[in-house]
Amino acid sequence: MKFFGLDVDIDDGANLSKALHDAQEQLAQASRLAAVAELSASIAHELNQPLQAIVAHGRACVRWLAATPPRIDEARYSAEQLLRDANAAADVVSRIRALFRHMLPQKVELDINKLILQVCTLMADDIQRNAVSLETILGEDVPKIGADAVQIQQVIVNLVRNAIEALAASEERPRLLVIRSHRDADNVVIDVEDHGTGQVDFEKIFEPFFTTKETGMGMGLAICRSIIEAHAGRIWAVRNVSRGVTFTFSLPIERSKGHFATGAEPTTSY
Ligand code: ADP
Repeated sequence: MKFFGLDVDIDDGANLSKALHDAQEQLAQASRLAAVAELSASIAHELNQPLQAIVAHGRACVRWLAATPPRIDEARYSAEQLLRDANAAADVVSRIRALFRHMLPQKVELDINKLILQVCTLMADDIQRNAVSLETILGEDVPKIGADAVQIQQVIVNLVRNAIEALAASEERPRLLVIRSHRDADNVVIDVEDHGTGQVDFEKIFEPFFTTKETGMGMGLAICRSIIEAHAGRIWAVRNVSRGVTFTFSLPIERSKGHFATGAEPTTSY
């Protein structure tokens, strides 16, 4: 049977559930891609008109100034039109920013170790299916921090998913994935270490739309970085001495406390 373009042996229950899972992933990926493509096209469309007008008025302004004698009044008019269109372009950018404002962190009192364990449970299927052996080393001294639980969960899921994909692409055995947490002075630090391919372009990986995967979108790490930076934290990656890559992010303990979206102390525990 063909199922969303995948060949499935209908008698084989395990195969069917894997095919279902793969099809769901493909559908989710396709709809994410479609949403990004649509958004990019509409931003490009909205910005293109004022940008073209800015270039036209700029050229006219230069021509009027180059005339002998220079036509100052006409040049001033062109410069004024140019400013008007530049403001229109800035308005488009402000509106897009307003659209994403709901992405501001909604901070709660967050137990990061608990969150890591929840992500591991959430991804248990993926981990098992790819024969990854997972180790968690969670610091007992890690305090609760003020952070957006959903956003930080998304960061950890993205990093773990990338690690699983890097491990799946590697011939090395065992496929080791280690998640660590510890306290470092005023920060909580989380490492996601894989012993995968380690073929990473460290200059580019956090840039939007950079991907080396056939069906990748290249937004995962860019989103991770914007989430962590919105929490006044840092995220980076290093190549491991043996093999693979470690992605690390740190979140401030003191500064994140009391900076809750509502302006109040946290009342929700996660
Ligand atoms: P995507 O997963 O859609 O490609 P990401 O932004 O999550 O987008 O990742 C960008 C790129 O960074 C990947 O395509 C891959 O080349 C590289 N990368 C990310 N994580 C790892 C990892 N753990 N090991 C090796 N390369 C990685």
